[in-house]
Amino acid sequence: MLIAAELDSGASMTIVTPEKAPLELFGKAASEKVAALLRDHNVETVLETAPAEYRDSALVTTDGRRIETDLAVTVPTLTGHLIPGLPYDEQGFIPVDDFGQIDQHSREFAAGDVTSFPVKFGGLATEQADVVAAAIAAAAWAAPAPEPFKPVYHGTLLTADGPVDLGPGAGGSEPYAWDPAEKVQGKYLTPFLKAADPAALGAEE
Ligand SMILES: Cc1cc2nc3c(=O)[nH]c(=O)nc-3n(C[C@H](O)[C@H](O)[C@H](O)COP(=O)(O)OP(=O)(O)OC[C@H]3O[C@@H](n4cnc5c(N)ncnc54)[C@H](O)[C@@H]3O)c2cc1C
Repeated sequence: MLIAAELDSGASMTIVTPEKAPLELFGKAASEKVAALLRDHNVETVLETAPAEYRDSALVTTDGRRIETDLAVTVPTLTGHLIPGLPYDEQGFIPVDDFGQIDQHSREFAAGDVTSFPVKFGGLATEQADVVAAAIAAAAWAAPAPEPFKPVYHGTLLTADGPVDLGPGAGGSEPYAWDPAEKVQGKYLTPFLKAADPAALGAEE
């Protein structure tokens, strides 16, 4: 949308995505909000397919469609780092259950981007880490049984008209506070970062 706002008249932009709806993982309210914003910015969406190749001035999708275009831009494919001794999926990420426990391993846990959970987001990494901490405490000290990981998506979309909140309850009228410390939404991390002295954390001037 930021690019679309800069385009010369006559130029157009299309997003090709395997999703059923734009940003569908964020839930219905956020997805509908994004779909409306894309329409407002004249960004067309081609859903439930994926780019296969760029050939003869066209993006060819996996279901055989040809989208005539002067330029195609792709986002990178994410792959994990293989850690010897731990299992990994086809993309190289560690498969975990809803408690962050590594499949088939009784004493190892993982949280964050390294896991097979498909959304790589700092806030979600902190939520996974909270679940893992509770699961380890339950196993080690008979602490209360942990709640399974139920991701809560917090996100802000930057548009030419300003930031748009895609967090829980998106679609409501709550204004979103745009604070760098809130870029990663974590129960403990966000207040820690808000109260932190950047220099004490090793940040450069
Ligand atoms: C450009 C960019 C912008 C982003 N913006 C946001 C945002 O605004 N909000 C948000 O919520 N998320 C954002 N993210 C995503 C967020 O950064 C990640 O989801 C988050 O950092 C994941 O945390 P993690 O602890 O799982 O992994 P990481 O932060 O990657 O931490 C893993 C650490 O392990 C270290 N490591 C790796 N291998 C080894 C090893 N063998 N031995 C020892 N150490 C090792 C790495 O050096 C690294 O320090 C952004 C990501 C990028 C790339």
